[in-house]
Amino acid sequence: MVAKLLNSLWHESTAQLVKNRPALDSDHQCDVAIIGGGYSGLWSAYYLKKLLPDLRIVVIEQNNVGFGASGRNGGWCSGFLPISLSEIEQTHGRAAAVEMYKASFQTLDEIEKVINSEQIDCEYHRGGTIHGATNAVQQSRVRHDVEQLHDFGFGEEHIRFLAATEISSRLNIDGLSTASYTPHCAVIHPAKLVQSLAQLVERLGVQIFESTTVLEYSPGNVKTNSYTCQADIIIRATEGFTARIKKHRRTLAPLYSYMVATTPLSTSQLSNLGWANRETYHDARNMIIYAQLTKDKRIAFGGRGAPYHFASRVKPQYDKHSVIHDKIIRSMHEVFKIAQELEVTHRWGGPLGVPRNWRPSVNFERTTGLASLGGYVGDGVAATNLAARTLAHLIVGDKHPLTELFWVNQVSRKWEVEPLRFIGINGLLKISESMDRHEARTNQPDKIRSKLLDYFL
Ligand SMILES: Cc1cc2nc3c(=O)[nH]c(=O)nc-3n(C[C@H](O)[C@H](O)[C@H](O)COP(=O)(O)OP(=O)(O)OC[C@H]3O[C@@H](n4cnc5c(N)ncnc54)[C@H](O)[C@@H]3O)c2cc1C
Repeated sequence: MVAKLLNSLWHESTAQLVKNRPALDSDHQCDVAIIGGGYSGLWSAYYLKKLLPDLRIVVIEQNNVGFGASGRNGGWCSGFLPISLSEIEQTHGRAAAVEMYKASFQTLDEIEKVINSEQIDCEYHRGGTIHGATNAVQQSRVRHDVEQLHDFGFGEEHIRFLAATEISSRLNIDGLSTASYTPHCAVIHPAKLVQSLAQLVERLGVQIFESTTVLEYSPGNVKTNSYTCQADIIIRATEGFTARIKKHRRTLAPLYSYMVATTPLSTSQLSNLGWANRETYHDARNMIIYAQLTKDKRIAFGGRGAPYHFASRVKPQYDKHSVIHDKIIRSMHEVFKIAQELEVTHRWGGPLGVPRNWRPSVNFERTTGLASLGGYVGDGVAATNLAARTLAHLIVGDKHPLTELFWVNQVSRKWEVEPLRFIGINGLLKISESMDRHEARTNQPDKIRSKLLDYFL
């Protein structure tokens, strides 16, 4: 599958960094074969090389490096996970929840360290995140999130409420009544990060094959659309595209997230808005929206809620969706009134990977040499780094504290067969959307739909 991406702001500005690397052109032997040239695959290669420099590692990528979500995302490098502290506590206990969040927050320091030591230019800026509320139900969610972190022992230095004056001076958005702030998020240029990582691991001796699609794999053997690669260890890092691999059709469901970007804000528009520290912004609606201010002062705004495609299909033509893009633009105009004065210059999207239990995981089985990492549910920019470091230590077997984190070897059950998967996932998306409409209209929680959501998730 060699396809070119449509109209992504990030790819447009990194076209000169994209190398066309050779495809696998003969049968190959190595110690570690990594399937997928996104952050998960490349960070895994990086940390394995750091721990064992002599390992012979190859990365096999169906398209170009960064073709997947790693080259297209919203650029939120966030220490927050798609699973809450209380959800982890329910299955693994309080201490495991706290350890996981500590490791996840510390991941930003680690990424920052590598960016500095390896001189990676990815426009990294750690401005934190503002989580806003524009109605009473959203207010209670923002409050709940702050209180939960405090209850688990994460103090004001991790998350705090913003006073009304601080809200408007940081980000002057109409109707923002309540907001919290956390420093655990940075903005990045996603495609610059993934291209730089690829070049970095190549300098460490990793071989990357592009335009080579893995059809199936089994212990010791990776079968591609051309040749075979034999490896003692095989790492699957294929996230939203996983369902295309034989025997993995129901491992991760691809859900699409879409984004738009505007022309740059003028100096006066920006001074009305504030946003001097480039905090990432989202509000507490059910159907996730996310915004960042790019280095060149554009608003990059994304949203979930696109329909899931039958049988987990992923196709290049799904990377754009005019109805969803129009919805996202409406949401952007609603959040940032000033965006109505700006032109939307870019529209793009891509698949992210969702496991049946909605929890990311890192897996390694020493007896077979098979490993995988992912299922980040759209929160993988920072989590890929933590997952890859964890996996490297699992493979090396050095009893590192990271290998004790709750997500290690937590394989989710498979998704339902079709058409149940199609009906279930699209039903959940519809419920979330109608809950947001109800909450905005009535200022009241939608208890019935909320119960339905809890039941199905
Ligand atoms: C529009 C959008 C916005 C997002 N915004 C954010 C955000 O702001 N913050 C955040 O934390 N997360 C965000 N995410 C999610 C985040 O980008 C991902 O979680 C993360 O990039 C996953 O990295 P990965 O390497 O696991 O997967 P990917 O980057 O998807 O990489 C997988 C790679 O594997 C390759 N591949 C797949 N199958 C095969 C095969 N059979 N053979 C060979 N190669 C194969 C693919 O081509 C791809 O390059 C967003 C995702 C999308 C789509």
